[in-house]
Amino acid sequence: MEILYLIKIGELTLKKGNRNQFEKQLKFNIKRKLPGVSTRITIRKGRFFLEGRMEDREKIEEALSTTIGIAGYTIAFKEKKDMEEIRERALEVARELSGQHNGGTFKIETRRSDKSFPLTSYQISADTGAYILDNLPEVKVDVHNPTWLISIEVRDFAYIYGNEKRGITGLPVGSAGRGLLLLSGGIDSPVAGYMMARRGLRLDAVYFHAYPYTSDEALDKVKALARKIARYTGGLSLFVVPFTDFQLLLNSKAREEEITLLMRAGMVRIADTIAKNRGIQCMITGESLSQVASQTVESITYTGSNTELPVFRPLIGLDKESIIRVAKEIDTYETSILPYDDCCTIFSPKHPLVNPVTHKLKESFSHLDAEDLLKEAVEKSERVFFK
Ligand code: ATP
Ligand code: MG
Repeated sequence: MEILYLIKIGELTLKKGNRNQFEKQLKFNIKRKLPGVSTRITIRKGRFFLEGRMEDREKIEEALSTTIGIAGYTIAFKEKKDMEEIRERALEVARELSGQHNGGTFKIETRRSDKSFPLTSYQISADTGAYILDNLPEVKVDVHNPTWLISIEVRDFAYIYGNEKRGITGLPVGSAGRGLLLLSGGIDSPVAGYMMARRGLRLDAVYFHAYPYTSDEALDKVKALARKIARYTGGLSLFVVPFTDFQLLLNSKAREEEITLLMRAGMVRIADTIAKNRGIQCMITGESLSQVASQTVESITYTGSNTELPVFRPLIGLDKESIIRVAKEIDTYETSILPYDDCCTIFSPKHPLVNPVTHKLKESFSHLDAEDLLKEAVEKSERVFFK
């Protein structure tokens, strides 16, 4: 049996000039999430129609509920433009919604773009509403604050559908270019990546791994997070960078209070090379102003000065509670709080610098003579792909 979804797209409707391109990207992203599932997507005036098979319902709904750029979606029924057919189908949808809501109140919204249809929008709503009231004594009409809604659209066919499920909105992944996420095992960076993906960036990620100071479990945790992010963003490459040698160098040569910031600088430099090698245009971190010593204005100024690429920090103005809320929404929270050490915590000084002076740290960094080591770390990094 066939199934039809009506998909409403969010912000795209504002993108007048290049809307076509955005729509194409969104269509591509939905299709890509449904390999081997037979679907047909047609685009019509700010809406998508997706036709598929009833037996693929779960897969289709998983794809629609996780594709960035979709504002809402619902199963729709396509009928002949005939009042009897419209009424019957609307009653069937009403019966299901009334069951879900213990009766409740409803409203019918009709849009008629086929002006040759003999009844006006208002008449279609009134006629159908009366039919539902006659057949379902447990429900009432409330046009101001209904518990559920039935929509009727009369265009090439008559489309009837109930409440839509909310999508996750945003701009389609890929429409804004590509970003490299500095992904640690913590709570913040997965949220930061997700937020930038919702602004249209396609993501790749980089993780700095200081084995054996950070365990295989810590790496597994980061992979699990990458997989969870990929659920929303589509394919994602994770670059696992061996970071131990650089950390040992810091431990032996750097001033203790500068270790954290010099380590951050090393991360940004390596990420910069990986990004440039792969044509990635920007970086993303989970930094939030003043959360820790390495996230003061001065510290961020210094770490950011280690790349020419823009560094996006979408969490900069968010408090921990708001970040955790999003982490729970995208299901990364439980993984992030698993207790494996991050490379930063192991070598971190007791009293890190809080107000570093950029040019002094640049000097300290050059005294490390780390260039070859950093280059080697890039070369030895391993790429893991998540679908
Ligand atoms: P998170 O929760 O994302 O780990 P955090 O609050 O613990 O962030 P820091 O540990 O200071 O903050 O890290 C700041 C940012 O630096 C992280 O959000 C992440 O983008 C990046 N980062 C830190 N450690 C690593 C790592 N081992 N690999 C990749 N990126 C890292
Ligand atoms: Mg961290």
